[in-house]
Amino acid sequence: MKPFILIVEDELPQAELLQYNLEKQGFRTSTVYEGQEALNRIEEELPDLVVLDWMLPGLSGVDICRKLRQQKDTKHIPIIMLTARGEEGDRIRGLDVGADDYVVKPYSPKELIARVRSLLRRAKGAEGEGRLEYANVVMDLGTHKVTRGEEAIHLGPTEFQLLRAFLGRPTRVFSREALLDQVWGRDVYVEDRTVDVHVGRLRKALNLPGSPELIRTIRGVGYSIDQDAQSS
Ligand code: CA
Repeated sequence: MKPFILIVEDELPQAELLQYNLEKQGFRTSTVYEGQEALNRIEEELPDLVVLDWMLPGLSGVDICRKLRQQKDTKHIPIIMLTARGEEGDRIRGLDVGADDYVVKPYSPKELIARVRSLLRRAKGAEGEGRLEYANVVMDLGTHKVTRGEEAIHLGPTEFQLLRAFLGRPTRVFSREALLDQVWGRDVYVEDRTVDVHVGRLRKALNLPGSPELIRTIRGVGYSIDQDAQSS
């Protein structure tokens, strides 16, 4: 089945160009032009991925992103934010509200499609089987469920793949470059800072009250999962 991509973009020519290119590459798409319409469409049919413009009339891309991340059935939908804002702070803010990736306008359709593919791969998780375990964290690769002790841990697609990398080699220190290669793949350019944001999100999701910190930061080197975590 063709992956279903929802395009949320109020500028008609941009939306049409995107739709044309995505469909040419074998995706099924639906385009909406404002925020509430996007939420309605998602309620009708859960997309495999949302391409979400930041600046929209009514609800902004940031509002929609937050809403999707708050609801159980939409929490895991991969989101790529389109932003006209070139400032690094603003771009990172898109990630902070829960987007998985962002593309700065003007962008090339080719770049966007590479990112769509990379993110869909992460979301599918390379169809693993079996489970990974470290300390009291268990990851079921078949069902994509993660638990720490008795608690279910809810992770976005990128955080899931990061944890998967860490759990594959517990206590090993991964550089940002190694994580970029393993999680994002080599066909997209991602800033190091993006890795930090997602590791931060993973750390927050894993931190349960009373449980010891598991993700260790080795300053200037990278990250590891280590139950004797003491960030240096
Ligand atoms: Ca816009």
